[in-house]
Amino acid sequence: MTLWKKNWPAKAPKSKEPSILGELKAEIPVMKKQGEPPVKDPGSFAQYMCDLCNTPHPISGLRQCVLCGRWACDSCWKDEYYTCKSCAGLIKIHSLKKE
Ligand SMILES: [Zn+2]
Ligand SMILES: [Zn+2]
Repeated sequence: MTLWKKNWPAKAPKSKEPSILGELKAEIPVMKKQGEPPVKDPGSFAQYMCDLCNTPHPISGLRQCVLCGRWACDSCWKDEYYTCKSCAGLIKIHSLKKE
């Protein structure tokens, strides 16, 4: 399951400078290593916890953020940046600073 990593440049918004990504990586604490699995829902072994809202979801409903490594459900995910909501907020702040 490393395919999504290769998606990052393609999924990234139009003309974000790669340097922003480097800056963000230095700033955002990595909560989980890339490839580290999400936390299992202790109540149901078929589901996993979203690291942002702490609700259980099937594994297919979670994606790992490329920046902080947290697993995010659909409502905690930003397709626009291909990161979790929280990192997407930081990306926005950084992009604004650059303009
Ligand atoms: Zn969530
Ligand atoms: Zn994140």
